[in-house]
Amino acid sequence: MADDASSRDFRFDAGLDERIEGAARALLGASHDVALTGAGLSVESGIPHFRGPGGLWTKYGEPPMDGYQRFLRDPKGFWEETLEPKAPWAKALGETLAAAKPNSGHLALAELERRGHLGALITQNIDDLHRQAGSRELLEIHGNHSLLRCVECNTRFTREELPIDPAELPPRCPGCAGVVKGDTVQFGEPIPADVLGRCYREVARADCMIVAGTSATVFPAADFPVQVSRKGGVLIEINPEVTDLTPLASHSLRGPGGALLERLLHHVVQGSPA
Ligand SMILES: [Zn+2]
Repeated sequence: MADDASSRDFRFDAGLDERIEGAARALLGASHDVALTGAGLSVESGIPHFRGPGGLWTKYGEPPMDGYQRFLRDPKGFWEETLEPKAPWAKALGETLAAAKPNSGHLALAELERRGHLGALITQNIDDLHRQAGSRELLEIHGNHSLLRCVECNTRFTREELPIDPAELPPRCPGCAGVVKGDTVQFGEPIPADVLGRCYREVARADCMIVAGTSATVFPAADFPVQVSRKGGVLIEINPEVTDLTPLASHSLRGPGGALLERLLHHVVQGSPA
């Protein structure tokens, strides 16, 4: 909230370091830590929000709300538009994604995983930045803009694995001959069942969840922290703003995700047995 002094300048919040230390202890004490991230984490990498002031869609116009139905009706036309986007928002998004680099928040989460303190990372972001930062147990519920996916068997491909021939659209899956689309989940498209199933399994195991850069108001992500909280798990919220999840959070860290996750990692490393 704008009138919350700690969100304006988190560096001078005297209690913050103590709260970060408390969150680090909770992470170290949990048996299965899972993180949930959203658009707020990538804003620091130069990827604007979609909606709201300065948002990509606010500036350039909204994409069609029936994107997936359009794809199903005309996969060839969908691919022609993907290869040579005419919509201003699609062009702007493509340029923004190509230029973005992981920030200290993405890197800290990858390092927490590498050190055995994070079992899985669920993200609503399609920007590939967690992957670039080195996260491996990554569940991208809205897909990944740099990958392709067979709509029949859900196999993912890199662009190198499945080069697109503009003369033969839509591309077909080498395994099952199903139609291949971009992995990004379109409006109207169900979350791929394989990813969603794994999310629910991870959430069922989790006794601690870091929620960073998302107010988690969109289903199914909205459900994950609530489930962890309901069974007595610990929620660590990292967000510049107060959200609907704040009352459920055991540890509320107010400020930008990049700096706070870096400090959280620091305390985890300090608190880990040598
Ligand atoms: Zn297939």
